[in-house]
Amino acid sequence: MDLQTPPQPVPDADSAGFWAATAAGELRLCRCADCRRWHQPPLERCPACGGATGFELVSGCGRIKSFIVVRHPAVPGYLEDLPYVVAIVDLDEQEGLRLPGRLLDADPARVDVGRAVRAEIVDLPGGDFRVVAFRLAGPAP
Ligand SMILES: [Zn+2]
Repeated sequence: MDLQTPPQPVPDADSAGFWAATAAGELRLCRCADCRRWHQPPLERCPACGGATGFELVSGCGRIKSFIVVRHPAVPGYLEDLPYVVAIVDLDEQEGLRLPGRLLDADPARVDVGRAVRAEIVDLPGGDFRVVAFRLAGPAP
């Protein structure tokens, strides 16, 4: 097993717009053109109103909903970063709009639910993809 290369994304018809945006250094999420609700994971049609969806920029600002501290090399590619934090982030745009991502340069002892974070697009080792990560963006609540 290659211990240097993390698993690579496999874009499909629904997520292609997301990956095209991250490749361009942007965080765009799926949004209904009619009722304006955000949807993550992305969907071709809005489950609320049936409207067509597209990808629109989000602020990348949010708060930690939950997190884990990774202390063992469960995923290839991040050995030198151990221990590190993987967070689920509630984005400011809409209640329940959530994204997972690594929390960069954060002391796990200083991370807590409710902390403000902001998204950043970073290179994924071992391929051509760029992915969403987060950084702490403010003082502890
Ligand atoms: Zn809709």
